[in-house]
Amino acid sequence: MILMLLGPPGAGKGTQSQLISDKLGIPQLSTGDMLRAAVKAGTPIGMKAKKIMAEGGLVHDEIVIGIIADRIAEPDCAKGFILDGFPRTLAQADALDTLLKSRGSKIDCVIELKVDDTKLVDRIECRARETQAAGGTVRADDNADALKTRLIAYYRETAPIIGYYFAHGLLKPVDGMAPIEDVSRQIDEILSEFQAA
Ligand code: ADP
Repeated sequence: MILMLLGPPGAGKGTQSQLISDKLGIPQLSTGDMLRAAVKAGTPIGMKAKKIMAEGGLVHDEIVIGIIADRIAEPDCAKGFILDGFPRTLAQADALDTLLKSRGSKIDCVIELKVDDTKLVDRIECRARETQAAGGTVRADDNADALKTRLIAYYRETAPIIGYYFAHGLLKPVDGMAPIEDVSRQIDEILSEFQAA
């Protein structure tokens, strides 16, 4: 099964992808996590992405498309995977369609986490405080300025792909403002329809 989670920064894509990954035993592919690992390791891609990410902008399409193309070719993706944070632009969505077509597969379902925009800033600030309290490193882009840029990038570049997947009949909206377990239950219900099919 090939799944995708869509939603603005702070919508809970990472949390829900991880839960689905544990339940279905298919990997979670987070371009954000992969890019953060590249930044940490100081690879050429990481060096290109570091400043863009810290400011909240989008990393170039060719870079993230290349990362995803390599990742889905790995054996653990043969039975399916969960896309978290990719695609983020229409060009990435088109490239993904082409990649999947070339391996004879396609997206089964796109889950849209719908959230109240005014709550996103609180969520991100809360995540930063919790990480700090736990002694962890706060993400370079979890601050008010970068979040504003991330939201602008989301509404300019990413939100249009919601319409694209709706038009393809793949979109399943979920109330992302509910508690984590409730959101997870809504997703399970959607997925059970696929498993029964
Ligand atoms: P969030 O959804 O909370 O904004 P992510 O961890 O998905 O966070 O992404 C963090 C950052 O990584 C983004 O703001 C962007 O700079 C970069 N990034 C991740 N995925 C992509 C992508 N598909 N295209 C371009 N940039 C990306």
